Amino acid sequence: MRLDQVFASGKPTISFEFFPPKTEEGFSSLYQTIEELKPLNPSYVSVTYGAGGSTRTRTVELAGRIQNQIGINTVAHLTCVGHTADEIGQILDQLWDQGIRNILALRGDPQGGVWTKTDGGFDHADELVRYVRSRHDFFIAVAGFPEGHPQCLNRIRDLEHLKGKIDAGAGAIVTQLFFDNNDFHRFRDDCQRMGITVPIVAGIMPITNVAQIKRFVTMCGAKIPMPLLRKLEKLESDPQAVYEAGVDYATNQCQDLLFHDVSGLHFYTLNKSKATTQIVQRLKRRTV
Ligand SMILES: Cc1cc2nc3c(=O)[nH]c(=O)nc-3n(C[C@H](O)[C@H](O)[C@H](O)COP(=O)(O)OP(=O)(O)OC[C@H]3O[C@@H](n4cnc5c(N)ncnc54)[C@H](O)[C@@H]3O)c2cc1C
Repeated sequence: MRLDQVFASGKPTISFEFFPPKTEEGFSSLYQTIEELKPLNPSYVSVTYGAGGSTRTRTVELAGRIQNQIGINTVAHLTCVGHTADEIGQILDQLWDQGIRNILALRGDPQGGVWTKTDGGFDHADELVRYVRSRHDFFIAVAGFPEGHPQCLNRIRDLEHLKGKIDAGAGAIVTQLFFDNNDFHRFRDDCQRMGITVPIVAGIMPITNVAQIKRFVTMCGAKIPMPLLRKLEKLESDPQAVYEAGVDYATNQCQDLLFHDVSGLHFYTLNKSKATTQIVQRLKRRTV
């Protein structure tokens, strides 16, 4: 089902993001995770597209399997990294043939970090959005950055580029993870001022490990608010206490977002079910 039909209900969506594992054991464990999360009735799940290597072909395979065999509406991520337009066209055809109707269109980050356009490919996500539209009748979502994209020269310019992606045909925004809801609220207000009216889905990453989250935030440019950082560092030697603090923090963050009429919550699950399940169950208990 195209996500415009899902968003049309006006109810906040709940979605889970997975990445294609590198090994067969990784896949068995991921299918177990998906079975554990399925009873939470996600509005959709999404499958990431790797920066290179064998996991890229697995995005099509995994998205098709979740959509057709496990029976959950699936969004396939797709990036411009290392691909010509023709190659992207072939991947889009495969996804369409698998019954996938939703694409998260991204520029991607090359391994090594410095962006270089592939000859015959695309320079920015807006070009990919136009191309996806021209190929099949997919619903297209794009990435948004409440704290600004790490490479942007200026926040307003970044928002202008985001508006360019919407004008190119994207119908929703899924944000980068963030920990300070004020960043999200300000971003959503700024989007509105820019004339961006599509649903904006908040990216949530439950913190379950201090070293891991520090690694993530340095890669994606999100910031950890000082009180949360201090608390995590104090608990660092006690993994269970970190886990509980992370689940509590994310639950409260989501509750505040729901209170402020967020269009959806998108959980970066890292292919694990426990923290996301606890958060969603707590939210359901608090809202009934
Ligand atoms: C929800 C989400 C899911 C993601 N999933 C994946 C994934 O599956 N695989 C993966 O490899 N990465 C993924 N990423 C990471 C993403 O690919 C990177 O953050 C990447 O650096 C930016 O992608 P983008 O689509 O926002 O790029 P763009 O929208 O192209 O923006 C990239 C930079 O270029 C600027 N820009 C945009 N358009 C123009 C223009 N027309 N002219 C000049 N400058 C412009 C922007 O301001 C920004 O600084 C994801 C990110 C998010 C938030």
